[in-house]
Amino acid sequence: MDLLQLSDFDLIRVVEDDHDFHIYARLSEETTHCQHCGKYGVVGFGRREQVVKDLPRLGKRSSIYVETRRWRCKNCGKTFYDELPHVDEKRRMTDRLVQWIGEQALRRTNSSVAEEVGVSEGTIRLVFAEYVQQKHDAMCFATPRWLGIDEIHLTKPRCVLTNVEKLTAFDILENRNKQTVANRLSRLDHRKSIELVTIDMWRPYRDAAAAVLPQATVVVDKFHVVRMLNFACETVRKALRADLTPAERRGLVNDRFLILKRRHRLNGKEHMMLSGWLENYPMLAMAYEIKEAGHRIYDAETRDDADAAFEEWRASIPHEMKGAFGDFERAWRNWRDEILAYFDCRATNAYTESLNNLIRTTNRVGRGYSFEALRARVLLSEGPEKKAAARPAFQKMLNRDRDIEMTVHSMRVPTRYEGRYGTLLSTLPEILRDGDFGSDQS
Ligand SMILES: [Zn+2]
Repeated sequence: MDLLQLSDFDLIRVVEDDHDFHIYARLSEETTHCQHCGKYGVVGFGRREQVVKDLPRLGKRSSIYVETRRWRCKNCGKTFYDELPHVDEKRRMTDRLVQWIGEQALRRTNSSVAEEVGVSEGTIRLVFAEYVQQKHDAMCFATPRWLGIDEIHLTKPRCVLTNVEKLTAFDILENRNKQTVANRLSRLDHRKSIELVTIDMWRPYRDAAAAVLPQATVVVDKFHVVRMLNFACETVRKALRADLTPAERRGLVNDRFLILKRRHRLNGKEHMMLSGWLENYPMLAMAYEIKEAGHRIYDAETRDDADAAFEEWRASIPHEMKGAFGDFERAWRNWRDEILAYFDCRATNAYTESLNNLIRTTNRVGRGYSFEALRARVLLSEGPEKKAAARPAFQKMLNRDRDIEMTVHSMRVPTRYEGRYGTLLSTLPEILRDGDFGSDQS
């Protein structure tokens, strides 16, 4: 049996020891043409043994030893070494090993892959980064009509690019700087086809969109606006609690949850509890009513109505509540155009809850996530199609099939994914929980 299974190479012999297969091979065909001028006629000019790492076999590391020759051209006089087919000469690895490392490093720690192959972790990291980039380039994610620029916290804040209509993520950027975001946006295909950009209230996103996507309308996501009303309410609630006796505090069970909930979503029992508290604590009642009224600004039919509703809301805030709701008021002033743009297009990031689930998952799974491994998982996950593409269960081969010669593929051709939108945000937590990866990386 040909242990090597690599076309263009002939196996000479195999030496096996406790940890390694040492596979000696030669090129099947002798070089006859010059690498420089392409003409026929070369003469031998020395020899050199090259050692190339290959796929691990039977639980052992494998290296291929090939004696390559140096040649001199009879025509142009230049010299050159034999080139090894199916080999990444820069890395001294077979192409199939490079591919395998990329696939493995998606699912396993770099150290375990490094140990199995017999190279350093640094090498695995470099090979993996290149693999991810190549696969990502080949995937050709469709540029969204509605682009979402969001944030996720993975050891530090990262920028997530999403397709708002398809509820998918198609890239994660290392940071949220204007330059980083603008660079990435400027590399999108057909970026002029982006009509709408939804963002949170982060100025660099607005600046990057203005610089690179001047045709697009920028909308501040509704969730990020109304969330500020909840923050204000929280400030009042916490201040109140700090002044209570322990017994009084015990009376406020689940107060945070009920106070942040919208009134129309409370059930009968919750409604009763909340009403009791609001009667006992007038400051809390005041904050609660202002929060509810603030949410109702979004009931407006048009941009002008919303603008008027905000001014009315602002004028209704009693003096003692001005401080707590000041951030919301300032945000409205600073982001007025982008907030009001919502009333023209009604675009929201409907996946915000998925994004929050994702953040909870990464927090729970812990600090083990490296940015690179996470990004690769997000970018290369095939989402709902993933399961269909997984290899089928082993099937025993029938007798009549055994004579058919197996085709040996020395190298897999990367799949080209057309018209992809990215990974469904709702599936990301599952993808991240699935398997141990990247935990040895910084
Ligand atoms: Zn030549």
